[in-house]
Amino acid sequence: SSTATIAFAGNPNSGKTTLFNTLTGSRQRVGNYPGITVERKEGHFTFENVKVNVIDLPGCYSLSAYSAEELVARKVLVDERPDIVVDIVDATKLERHLYLAVQLFELGVPVMLALNMIDDAKKQGLRIDTGRLSELLGCPVVETVARTGQGKQELTAKALAHAKQRGGTWEPLAVSYGPDIDPALKTMSEKIEAAGFMTNRYPARWVALKYMEADEEIVAAGKEIGGLHDELQTIVAQTREHCRKTLNTVPEAIVADYRYGLINSIMKQDIVTREISQRERV
Ligand code: GDP
Ligand code: MG
Repeated sequence: SSTATIAFAGNPNSGKTTLFNTLTGSRQRVGNYPGITVERKEGHFTFENVKVNVIDLPGCYSLSAYSAEELVARKVLVDERPDIVVDIVDATKLERHLYLAVQLFELGVPVMLALNMIDDAKKQGLRIDTGRLSELLGCPVVETVARTGQGKQELTAKALAHAKQRGGTWEPLAVSYGPDIDPALKTMSEKIEAAGFMTNRYPARWVALKYMEADEEIVAAGKEIGGLHDELQTIVAQTREHCRKTLNTVPEAIVADYRYGLINSIMKQDIVTREISQRERV
């Protein structure tokens, strides 16, 4: 028999813990990450002769270093390299929840989506084209109701199949951030790649992007190695100044805009439609 590790990621209140409990039952361990108060939940279950380990990651909205939860989620992904990350999204808040998904794709870890709370979505008259969403994202998307366990078999089967297909490879998505950011990111990525700075853990473009966002953890690591840090900081300063002077904004805002633009281009393809109820029609 074989083993596989699934990590559950998602915004707070998307149903991660409920799904985790449904799958692992009492086969759980709860502890804390070393030195911080963020809870670590792990469990396991067996599915078709595969021992499946599950990690319930702390809820987070992004993978920046803005909170302890985000830092932990990111650290677990890069340190433990789960075979598959299931991003649990609230189907009634799909557009907003895809923001984290985009960042998981950018990090490159094998990802799939659980469209949870599909019961609530149906009650609200929302119809979600799961097949089309899966095509556009290039990963499996499974509808679930964590509270009842609906969809958990399909989710597990697809997670294991996708993990197997990816075979542990990371395939970072290079989102374009437009003419004001992309050239700087390209130059920075090349320097990072050449120096091998953190590239055993992160894609080079991701490290460059984190420098651009003044990510505390990544920048602190960079300071340790001197020359490259100064070169990267110079490019970041130039880009910041350019964005301020010509657009009156900061790179982080442009990055967020382009991510939302990407999500919008997906949502525009009629991913979510709303049925007009009998009452509304009359
Ligand atoms: P977490 O913050 O992602 O761990 O989310 P929880 O598992 O704590 O769930 C948040 C709330 O949503 C709880 O009240 C759950 O009972 C509820 N919930 C979870 N999954 C579903 C679902 O599929 N449908 C509905 N209607 N409620 C759900
Ligand atoms: Mg939870």
